[in-house]
Amino acid sequence: MHDILPDQSPLWQHLEETVRNLFQRYGYREIRTPILEMTELFKRSIGEVTDIVEKEMYTFEDRNGDSLTLRPEGTAGCVRACMEHGLLHNQVQRLWYQGPMFRHERPQKGRYRQFHQIGLEAFGMPGPDIDLEVILLTARLWHELGIEGLELQINSLGTAEERRTYREELVAYLRRHEEQLDEDSRRRLESNPLRILDSKNPEMAELIAAAPSLMEYLGETSREHFEMITRGLAAAGQEYVVNPRLVRGLDYYSRTVFEWVTDRLGAQGTVCAGGRFDGLVEQLGGRPTPAVGFAIGLERIIAVLETLDRVPPAPAPDAYMVVMGEAAAEHGLVLAERLRHALPQLKLQVNCGGGSFKAQFKRADRSGARLALILGEDELANNRVSVKWLREARDQETVGQEQLADHLQSILGE
Ligand code: ATP
Ligand code: MG
Repeated sequence: MHDILPDQSPLWQHLEETVRNLFQRYGYREIRTPILEMTELFKRSIGEVTDIVEKEMYTFEDRNGDSLTLRPEGTAGCVRACMEHGLLHNQVQRLWYQGPMFRHERPQKGRYRQFHQIGLEAFGMPGPDIDLEVILLTARLWHELGIEGLELQINSLGTAEERRTYREELVAYLRRHEEQLDEDSRRRLESNPLRILDSKNPEMAELIAAAPSLMEYLGETSREHFEMITRGLAAAGQEYVVNPRLVRGLDYYSRTVFEWVTDRLGAQGTVCAGGRFDGLVEQLGGRPTPAVGFAIGLERIIAVLETLDRVPPAPAPDAYMVVMGEAAAEHGLVLAERLRHALPQLKLQVNCGGGSFKAQFKRADRSGARLALILGEDELANNRVSVKWLREARDQETVGQEQLADHLQSILGE
């Protein structure tokens, strides 16, 4: 679990603001749900036989003996909240969420125990149009963040029924090669064989590559659904790769699944993953409700932005006020408030905690401010302020305190 330090937060804020702004433009509204949910919710939604539920959840009993879990992902809580508050009754919902998620994984680059996701869910739309729009939205996000070179991988998981037929074929194939299966996969052969395709074990790569493909088991409707999406992507000029092994870690997906992958981060290359999950709401006790969504792993996007040098400059104040002596310090705070009132856009830092001229100028310089506003004994006595340029070769001026706001405004407007 990591601290995000002040030097790093401008990049985080830039990322979060860019995402928020884009989601809003597509008509999505934010939902905020608790970080803790009943353990049962995740078992029922994500599925008992998944990495997350089997070995990654932070689960504990509270004082009442209820089993609670720190959320490992955002969809379950979002669906629970929507059901609880009747947001899914005969209506379309476009929602997004963000926040920390918790998984007890082996920490490594791009894989942490507390990490952050921003995700989006669209409920009530069964057709491929919304799948396509959601994917195009993610493509636009990379564009607006200045990220190039991510690969879009897509696949269709068909319907539960289509998967059942496929599952039998897959199990038969895997049984014929049982000696090549690792321990996890052997266990999953019964409980969740599709997840074997998702295995990260390199020793199984060959076996998985030669397995029968789910694509060939799709019915007419699923195939059309998928083709409309690939047609739309092509029409929008968006490149994609069909990856028949893409099954996603979670059980509740149906039809469309997609991932955005980068080769810049080594093994942990998936920066965004999503798909359609038409079965989930019903699985959690609601009425059947079509749904599609995705989650972005923010740490991984941050890492990509860093490798691309897309780091915004640290925000600096416009001005740093240097105050000499107790009387000036006291008056300086009041003057600063007047300036902030007159110029809401002004970024102004006032020296607090005293210090010599030299020490205060050092702080002024370190703050990155463009100007120093100097309130010494002389200035205080004459009702004036000296304005000194810290980064430009321009002459120092003395300005009457009544004119200072106008003076600064003209400088800010340069
Ligand atoms: P993986 O196969 O890498 O374990 P996953 O299938 O568990 O991924 P999802 O549950 O789909 O991942 O989560 C969506 C995204 O969240 C991932 O694509 C990734 O960017 C990010 N993510 C997931 N787990 C972690 C983690 N432990 N640390 C950092 N980011 C993560
Ligand atoms: Mg995982």
